[in-house]
Amino acid sequence: MTKTAIYPGSFDPVTRGHEDIIRRSLAFADKVIVAVAVNVSKQSLFSLEERVDLLERALHDVTNVDVRAFEGLTADFARAVGASMVVRGLRAVSDFEYEFQMALMNRQLHSQLETVFLTPALEHTFLSSSLVREVASFGGDVSRFVHPAVSDALTTKFGS
Ligand code: ADP
Repeated sequence: MTKTAIYPGSFDPVTRGHEDIIRRSLAFADKVIVAVAVNVSKQSLFSLEERVDLLERALHDVTNVDVRAFEGLTADFARAVGASMVVRGLRAVSDFEYEFQMALMNRQLHSQLETVFLTPALEHTFLSSSLVREVASFGGDVSRFVHPAVSDALTTKFGS
């Protein structure tokens, strides 16, 4: 049986930290669906189409990964695509409370769905999309933290 995992998030934009989590997921999932949320509560820098496109470009060399946009509950999306796992990244204790709450809520909504937490490589633990956006907005060099396609897209957004 194919073990499918979903990795939901905003990916505004995708960073090397996200990429690291996706690659690690493939050690135990046959297929990973990166589920890009239509974010109702957050104003995003990149549109949904741009976020999907940047993920596809950053992951073009990775097999068994699909990038899909989704709206609504993660639990419903998991059911719709036949996923048995949700992958989330844990960088620090500060991520824990929210992630723990989400995992328990998702279990209430879909009892067969397991949440799997992964930690990234140490050099990616400080990375977040919001910090990358902030540094790029002030003209800082983010090329070490994101795929070149993302770095170019940030330069286009903010000017060089
Ligand atoms: P959300 O808006 O759901 O937090 P994000 O795109 O910010 O979406 O993150 C998606 C997932 O990736 C979350 O589980 C988050 O903790 C994780 N994540 C984000 N950045 C990193 C990183 N540098 N290393 C590991 N996990 C990360």
